[in-house]
Amino acid sequence: MVSLKPVHSLVAGVMGEAGQPRLLLKGTASPHTYQMRPSDARALAEADLIVWVGDAMETFLHRAIENLGSKSRIVTLHEVPGIRLLQNREGGIWEDDDHGEAHVDEHKGHGHEHDEFNMHFWLDPGNAGRIVDTVAEALIFLDPARTATWRANAAATRKRIADLHASLEARLAPVRGHAFVVFHDAYQYFERAYGLKGKGAIAVDPARAPSAKRLVELRGALAEHEIRCVFTEPQFEPDLVRTVIEGSDVRTAVLDPVGADTRPGPDAWIEIMRGLGDAMVGCLGRS
Ligand SMILES: [Zn+2]
Repeated sequence: MVSLKPVHSLVAGVMGEAGQPRLLLKGTASPHTYQMRPSDARALAEADLIVWVGDAMETFLHRAIENLGSKSRIVTLHEVPGIRLLQNREGGIWEDDDHGEAHVDEHKGHGHEHDEFNMHFWLDPGNAGRIVDTVAEALIFLDPARTATWRANAAATRKRIADLHASLEARLAPVRGHAFVVFHDAYQYFERAYGLKGKGAIAVDPARAPSAKRLVELRGALAEHEIRCVFTEPQFEPDLVRTVIEGSDVRTAVLDPVGADTRPGPDAWIEIMRGLGDAMVGCLGRS
């Protein structure tokens, strides 16, 4: 069982022909606001392997997973060594040094304040590769007879990730210099991977609507920071974005970090990443 579609996709790639993992969050459901259903709880209890990002992302899963005790094998991705975590950024328009290398932090195991880290780390190709390896290790532990299959599937999935990364690097290079604002700060890993110029987010807390004061401040910041594009998301209220850009020549497009309309399966992670690239090139690239 896997909580989010892009992560589910990576797990599906490693499982291959052996079976489809169950996906918890479907459609436009946001991990920041989701409520568990009884069928979800039953599926969790029955799962041999549970892969989730962690309690700072899927807050709705925190207690349910705690209640499982040690019965199931649980992979909490934000605790996995080698997953690169970036610090959360604050404010409507981020401070420039929020992009600095000094803020990059390797995960140090238990005992850290994980609220300080941004949990959308599946949007980094390096982290996606690490997720793939971690899932392969878990499957080898659960079903060692198929070790060769898990290893081969993991290698093939990593190759697909690497190919996609190379094509996105080439595709996004021309729009690197153009500033944009996003709906919520879900794209820090994507921005870093491709050297993009994210300048701020509309929502402070993706579980809550931004205040009118914040929207007015953002409107004022558009010209100052030469914002070309304000990105909305299918999970959130598009009127808020329209309020921010009204009367300016700033454009808008949709970014979807969890793939609301993407078919679940091994291709979903690739399609979600490519979709982000397409939306950014489309909105930032026009002259
Ligand atoms: Zn988010």
